[in-house]
Amino acid sequence: MKVRVLKGTNQIGGCITEITSDKGTRIIIDFGEDLPDDNVTLTKENPNYEGLTTGTKKYDAVFITHSHGDHIGLINYILDDIPVYVEPESKKIYKLLSVFTCKQIRFKTQDMLYKEPIIINNDIKVTPYYVDHSAYHSSMLLIEADGKKILHTGDFRNNGLTGQEFEPTLKSIGHVDLIITEGTSLSRVDEPNETEEHLMERLLTVFKKYDQVFVLQSSTNIDRLKTFYNVSKKTNKTFIEDIFTANIAVSIDDDSIPSPYNRDDVYTWVTSKYRKEKSLKFKRKYVYPFLDRSKQKAYLNKKYCLLVKASMEEAIFKLYKKNFIDNACLVYSMWDGYRDKEALKNFLEIIKKYGIIDVGTYHTSGHADRKTIELLNSLKAKKVIPIHTTEPEKLKEVLNNVIVIKDKEIVEV
Ligand SMILES: [Zn+2]
Ligand SMILES: [Zn+2]
Repeated sequence: MKVRVLKGTNQIGGCITEITSDKGTRIIIDFGEDLPDDNVTLTKENPNYEGLTTGTKKYDAVFITHSHGDHIGLINYILDDIPVYVEPESKKIYKLLSVFTCKQIRFKTQDMLYKEPIIINNDIKVTPYYVDHSAYHSSMLLIEADGKKILHTGDFRNNGLTGQEFEPTLKSIGHVDLIITEGTSLSRVDEPNETEEHLMERLLTVFKKYDQVFVLQSSTNIDRLKTFYNVSKKTNKTFIEDIFTANIAVSIDDDSIPSPYNRDDVYTWVTSKYRKEKSLKFKRKYVYPFLDRSKQKAYLNKKYCLLVKASMEEAIFKLYKKNFIDNACLVYSMWDGYRDKEALKNFLEIIKKYGIIDVGTYHTSGHADRKTIELLNSLKAKKVIPIHTTEPEKLKEVLNNVIVIKDKEIVEV
């Protein structure tokens, strides 16, 4: 096999990897946008990849590791006759993101199920494995052809609520010839990750101190959703999801995810923006199911945890005017780098005027720290290619046999 990273050897997000077998079967892994953003920001122009998005088909399949925009965000440009494989829950999440950001997407994909190999052209075998990451139901991919094995890690970690599954998964994969791994953390904070459980303990202190807790988190970070629900329960706070988060929670087929459908103590905050939404079709599907009057009054006892978005400033102002804010804080629970984004910066400034105190960032990374990346050494790969990092050289401090390459360089397996 031959590996070419078309993009991503020296950047975070937007990584595109091409793998070609000796017989000429050619697949792509991940086709996302450049922005390392949790939200969908669909590019308006065709990214012009010959044989993938333009011209005649040169690729036999595309595989997507997870629902973050920097891995899936460009799939609507893929030529119609190239099959695109996506894990079903990831597909649901991405669809909802697209609907809520008013983007039209063509979304004809094939299901990719954990541990069920997909064979392309009777030649390349791709097996997805569940991996812990901040996007729900992320995958690592094992690619086999020509008697060789490649592991593409996608984005991963082992400090989330399902992190304990990581080492047994590696063990079941055994030996591989080449690893393509993310190295995000080494170019960001580069310190050991806090576990989700430990984060929950720290949040308890904040929840005990403040009566109203406003939370800024990514709606697709399901671990974090569970964490805030659990802390709210422990501190007798009403748990209120914004409508986007509520839609995500009910769409996923997993009862352990708190949603207004499976918990009597989970409420939804339907802001006037959605009540006034023009499309009746949208309202019928995504708003009306949550319009339970009693649930609208969930914040009346003034002890609540409310998931918010930067776009909800007006709605928060109304709460302030009605005196539902008197001992409040904001918990910022995303990557710190997003704080500098204009819309978020303005939002954080404005809500201070309503007496909501920014108590700082309470977040654990979605990306593997050094110790976790080091575990890949157990696969005894002869070559390791770092992607999804701006410090590829640093991977050499952690992993054996790292080769730092440039975009489009060919690596033989
Ligand atoms: Zn990523
Ligand atoms: Zn990701």
